[in-house]
Amino acid sequence: MVVIDGSQGEGGGQILRSSLALSLVTGLAFRIEKIRSSRKKPGLMRQHLTAVEAAAAVGRAEVQGAGIGSQQLVFAPTAIKPGNYHFAVGTAGSCTLVLQTVLPALLIADTRSELVLEGGTHNPYAPPFDFLARAFLPLIERMGPRVSAILQRPGFYPAGGGRFTVTVDPAAGLRRIDIPERGAIRNLAARAMVARLPRQIGERELKVVRDRLGWSEEWCHVIEADWSPGPGNFLCVEIVSEHCAEVFSGFGERGVSAEKVAKDTVKLVEEYLSANVPVGPYLADQLLLPMALAGGGSFRTLAPTLHLTTNAEVIRRFLPVEVEMLKRAPNDWEVRLENKTRT
Ligand code: ATP
Repeated sequence: MVVIDGSQGEGGGQILRSSLALSLVTGLAFRIEKIRSSRKKPGLMRQHLTAVEAAAAVGRAEVQGAGIGSQQLVFAPTAIKPGNYHFAVGTAGSCTLVLQTVLPALLIADTRSELVLEGGTHNPYAPPFDFLARAFLPLIERMGPRVSAILQRPGFYPAGGGRFTVTVDPAAGLRRIDIPERGAIRNLAARAMVARLPRQIGERELKVVRDRLGWSEEWCHVIEADWSPGPGNFLCVEIVSEHCAEVFSGFGERGVSAEKVAKDTVKLVEEYLSANVPVGPYLADQLLLPMALAGGGSFRTLAPTLHLTTNAEVIRRFLPVEVEMLKRAPNDWEVRLENKTRT
């Protein structure tokens, strides 16, 4: 049995989700201790428990320790069962992170899966739906599988109530991809979503994007998402280049001005554009696992985050891959994954 220390590195929920995903694809049982011990409220929160339940359903797994607040879990999958699933977090916890847990196994399963996910779709500190659909999944599709995601209703903290569907047409195995360059920029777009909040908030955010990045009016749109239970505000800045698309996000918060939300988001965009690398910091940690499944891959990215290095550690525990991170400049790193068993 693989034993995972949940307090290592970044010490958050990603260690658990990556372990669940890797256990499903390898068939290896694992025990994790000190789950989320670096967090203020350690142990399993609703979102993590839903991820455990989702992984248990997809992998017909035996599970011990699956309860709110639990800091230890044993997970033993038996067989991957693709099919139709409905996973609801039940709070505003991120349901894109639930997808992150079960998707790798479904990408290489033997038949199609159709999923309905409910909870938060646009949460800070988690992949927003737009990132998933426009940055992450297009790269997964370059590895072979077909995955389509449709947002039915955005869900924000604290009301939740978001919903999206995903169809996965798997591939027999994942193809290796290498993303050394960004290439020419093909499209730029900024969208400010407001749900049950004044449209003006979105307009103020987009003005900052235009003023600071010199973007033109027709690349910027306000979306009034009043079909969401809301209230919520989400700013999404998308850069589509020849070899990769990236999505940077900001979230409206009570007591924080629309201008501040937009300025912080623009800072991320400027850092990415000036580094001239294809892969941003979130995409980097999320690409590792599918690349490891493909038996290798590489990309250039910004300076490695703790999420990236921690995820690399967890992956090494389940799969025979070498993950190398080579610094070319302070904000230009090359990440390479190679299968250790290959000659
Ligand atoms: P915690 O234990 O911190 O409560 P958690 O389970 O919500 O955590 P983390 O362990 O911090 O999550 O992992 C968060 C994941 O969400 C990482 O894979 C990270 O790349 C991703 N993520 C965070 N913010 C963004 C963003 N703005 N865009 C895309 N992905 C993001």
